[in-house]
Amino acid sequence: MTKTALITGSTSGIGFGIAESFAQKGYQIMLHGLEANGKEIAQKLAQRFNIKTHFSNHNLTNAEDIDRLIELTVNTFGRIDVLINNAGIQHVSPIDEFPNATYEKIIAINMNAVFYASKAAWKHMKNNKFGRIINISSVHGIRASEFKSAYVTAKHGVIGLTKVLALEGAPFNITCNAICPGYVKTPLVDNQIKDQAKSHHLSETEVIEKIMLKKQAVKDFIPIQKIGEMALLLAADDAQTITGTNFTLDGGWSAQ
Ligand code: NAD
Repeated sequence: MTKTALITGSTSGIGFGIAESFAQKGYQIMLHGLEANGKEIAQKLAQRFNIKTHFSNHNLTNAEDIDRLIELTVNTFGRIDVLINNAGIQHVSPIDEFPNATYEKIIAINMNAVFYASKAAWKHMKNNKFGRIINISSVHGIRASEFKSAYVTAKHGVIGLTKVLALEGAPFNITCNAICPGYVKTPLVDNQIKDQAKSHHLSETEVIEKIMLKKQAVKDFIPIQKIGEMALLLAADDAQTITGTNFTLDGGWSAQ
């Protein structure tokens, strides 16, 4: 039986890299994201790996749209085996200048959507006695940095939710784990480099050297493929005892 994976925010960055890893292993994939060329991205992936894909641009700020995304996945592929809650946004600003609406949007997309999507997928996974939920948190789910109040709050919240879902899912062979990457070079980070440069009054090269990679012992961005490989390991049939934990891929950042 061909397994189905829904990866939120998979028409860009880390999500797309995870989609490539799952496509290589023959999964059917629901690609998702707000990128205007999402349909084309999904079609190209299908052709490259000879798999079935579909695309959705449901907005994760809305719980009903998230329900529709899960239903579309099940109606298209007949099942949902793996849910990768990956979509996320960032905003960098001192707290006294942090816009309330931006704080709420980050909490909605980076944290609340993980709850709504997992809740909507739950009944299908429970019926199938199989489910793998993988949340892309961040090293900011276990460590803080200044000027990232909303992001750090949301990513810590995701780690808490991951533990609860692991406990509730255990009787049904549903596992839930989080992956906590350090810096990965994606559009989200490119935007942050610009924002950080403004907040810290530094050039973009100085931001990369002095701020971003400063906390990582390994002075390299984390390769996207490594996150895909970790997700595949967590999604495996025989990974049912790996649950309720977080896996850091952070170049040694959290070792300090
Ligand atoms: P990205 O900006 O490249 O991709 C984000 C994806 O989320 C896009 O497909 C976008 O369309 C989608 N998205 C954003 N808002 C949405 C909304 N309202 N509804 C539906 N989809 C929406 O970002 P990325 O760097 O690949 O980040 C992916 C995940 O990895 C995020 O959760 C991020 O916090 C996390 N992460 C990234 C890094 C990094 O260094 N890039 C490090 C740690 C964790």
